[in-house]
Amino acid sequence: MPKTESSVNPFETAKQQIDIVADLIGLNGGIRQVLKHPKRELTVNFPVRMDDGEYRVFTGHRVQYNMVRGPTKGGIRYHPQVTLDEVRALAAWMTWKCAVVNIPYGGAKGGIVCDPKKMSRDELERMTRRYASEISLIIGPEIDIPAPDVYTDSQTMAWIMDTYSMQRGFSVPGVVTGKPISLGGSEGRGEATGRGCAYVTREAAKDVGVRVKGATVAVQGFGNAGSIASTLLHDEQGATIVAASDSRGGVFKSDGINPHALEEHKKKTGSVVGFPGTKQISNEELLESNVDILIPAALENQITGKNANKISAKIVAEAANGPTLPEADKVLFEKKVTVLPDILANAGGVTVSYFEWAQDIQGYFWALSEVRQRLEQVMVRSYQDVHKVAVERKVHNRTAAYVLAIQRVVEATKTRGFYP
Ligand code: NAD
Repeated sequence: MPKTESSVNPFETAKQQIDIVADLIGLNGGIRQVLKHPKRELTVNFPVRMDDGEYRVFTGHRVQYNMVRGPTKGGIRYHPQVTLDEVRALAAWMTWKCAVVNIPYGGAKGGIVCDPKKMSRDELERMTRRYASEISLIIGPEIDIPAPDVYTDSQTMAWIMDTYSMQRGFSVPGVVTGKPISLGGSEGRGEATGRGCAYVTREAAKDVGVRVKGATVAVQGFGNAGSIASTLLHDEQGATIVAASDSRGGVFKSDGINPHALEEHKKKTGSVVGFPGTKQISNEELLESNVDILIPAALENQITGKNANKISAKIVAEAANGPTLPEADKVLFEKKVTVLPDILANAGGVTVSYFEWAQDIQGYFWALSEVRQRLEQVMVRSYQDVHKVAVERKVHNRTAAYVLAIQRVVEATKTRGFYP
């Protein structure tokens, strides 16, 4: 669940969300307490030599929220506003995301309080390696497997993998995912979030009665997740992309935009804005445009109590994390807009991360076609699981996804029993 305002503590939001679902499924006592507490947290303060020769102390966190269903999984974020409570919330949300798609992981998250835009590559490398060394006490292929998040990438993962491997004395590719292919990364990881989003959109369209062939699509945030999701809906399912945007603004063309040409234009000019033959629109106009499918794929808190009423899409597929506020969920549910919640719609990324880890551990790598086929199976099955709960309980898909996830974690907890 997204934080509703910057002043709201995201971990409080995450705990409230657990309470709502616990009330709904009649979960009380100790087990509710377990769900509302991170299992393990490590905060590290460590010095890094900066390019000017001075040392600076950085603070980093790693939170392993729940590992009842398996080793924990979650990204590492570099951002000036990282807080322990934010990391706790993100780790909780990873727990539910992994449970929704039923991969054998718990949830974790990490972060360093830093401003990566003001650091050189060498400084970033030294900071990453020292942080990796500090948290190496609690990470590992059988314990906790980090991945990229905001302002970290495959190079960051390569440094972590190398640092961890140097300490162990042998190569341990399975300690992180989102690695370069040359170090044990998986085929298809780069496209996985967008591809997973396209699969669940296709499945939802069948239930909603929207024909994807010829359906109109608007995508907010034509970046990794958004451009791939919309391009696949266009290429593989015959949808028409009529609107796309990025941080500089949006473009609209009622008879369709070729996503490949748009991608080229964005590469050349840095933005979708100014793409020949299109009309410029604002991000607000994009969200409210008259389309069948809306893909928010940029930022949090985009669909709010103010604009939810103006959303005319029949399906909202959340490629982004947290684009819809809770008050907007209610409005969309009443308007019969089908929302595919983030923990389902963008779970293709963590699913192929799971495939990457499985390949690393086996030392046996799959072809792209196999990755795609297995991803499709996971996403279709997960959509159907969520849809079933939504229909049975007469709740919207987000609540259904949380119910499904929390029930899976609870079942595993009860079956294992409480030690000692
Ligand atoms: P990205 O940086 O590749 O793309 C983000 C896009 O959003 C960029 O085109 C950017 O210009 C645009 N954008 C920024 N501010 C905007 C604004 N105000 N209005 C419209 N567009 C704006 O990032 P990404 O990896 O595609 O991630 C996008 C979202 O998807 C994030 O919420 C991320 O957490 C989520 N997500 C991504 C992955 C993944 O594997 N990439 C996995 C899970 C979730």
